[in-house]
Amino acid sequence: MADLRLRNARLWGTEGLSDVTIEDGRIADVDTASGEAETAGPDTVDLEGALVIPGLVDAHAHVDKTLFGGPWVPRTAGPGLAAAIEYGATERVKYGVPNPDYITALLTNMAVHGTTRTRSHVDIDPGLGIDAVHAVREAVERLEGRVDMQMVAFPQTGLLVSPGTEELMNEALAAGVEYVGGIDPGGFDGDAVKHLDVVFEMAERHGAGVDIHVHDGDNLGVHEFDLIIERTRALSMQGRVTISHAFALYDAAGAVRERLIEQLAENRISVTSVAPKKVLPLKELDSAGVRTGIGNDGVRDLWSPYGTGEMLERTLWFARNSGFSRDEDIELALDAATFGGAEITGAEDYGLSAGSKADLVAVPARNAAEAVMTHPTPTVVVKGGKVTARNGVLA
Ligand SMILES: [Zn+2]
Repeated sequence: MADLRLRNARLWGTEGLSDVTIEDGRIADVDTASGEAETAGPDTVDLEGALVIPGLVDAHAHVDKTLFGGPWVPRTAGPGLAAAIEYGATERVKYGVPNPDYITALLTNMAVHGTTRTRSHVDIDPGLGIDAVHAVREAVERLEGRVDMQMVAFPQTGLLVSPGTEELMNEALAAGVEYVGGIDPGGFDGDAVKHLDVVFEMAERHGAGVDIHVHDGDNLGVHEFDLIIERTRALSMQGRVTISHAFALYDAAGAVRERLIEQLAENRISVTSVAPKKVLPLKELDSAGVRTGIGNDGVRDLWSPYGTGEMLERTLWFARNSGFSRDEDIELALDAATFGGAEITGAEDYGLSAGSKADLVAVPARNAAEAVMTHPTPTVVVKGGKVTARNGVLA
């Protein structure tokens, strides 16, 4: 017997309305909506024509840093990356960050707005040790399976310039963190080759993937892309490496950009964007077959007062900063926020067809472009076949 039936669903990519039957956490059947009154049996929800998309994937988050639901903290850091890092590392002590209560509040807001999966970079440094890993785990447990979490051991205060960080990252990886992070290998950490050698060597030793922050742009950024591509190939890590922010792709023009995109595709290196002004060239990446994900980055933390954790809203920012106005292009942004992130984070059996895992979001919109432009609160969120939220409240 079905565990759940979603009636009158407007499945993304399908004409007309469907009835979706869910069994054992998966989509068992998709039928044309009968329109008949439900008589008896399984738990049934009438979606009344709402658009149904697969669970949103936040492919680049920093949930450990958040003050969501906590005090408003004035941001007084000086300009530039180094000043922001310094400010974050000293002020967090005063505000008790990482805090499982703030992380829980943010994950809750993400979950009720349709995020069912996220990859979060978690600060690892000598001041914190691996405390942030434990804080995120505690919050994820409190969410009781509503959001799948993948963590990246992230050397926010540097790897080479912050002695002791490498050992702590090894400790985090040994404790089950799935990805090795990195940050501006040349621009911040001072030695691109050495930084990347340490990162990839650590990944190889732990059988982990790599997801590295590269804000470095222009020639330095291009050089770092080449070093990452070279190491991905040498270690046969195709499909397990992500470059986050990837500003060099925005800065590079013509033949250089084309070559980088071609080599990313060849080595199945994915990219993620948090929708800044230097937004990634999504259409070029998509036509070359490079998977792109979208993430919320830091939300209401010591770095940024912006954000809510709501993925449809972030997708709107991405579309707007990309200059998209055609429905087809906006839909491509939503594809990155769903299927793109799912592939990058290795989600299995993701989608809307029979056999897929039942991670589904019902949005009061008539199509994908309208869902992104209006980014409404989902009426129903289903995770693993169970209704986990309704109208902005956990169920
Ligand atoms: Zn980041």
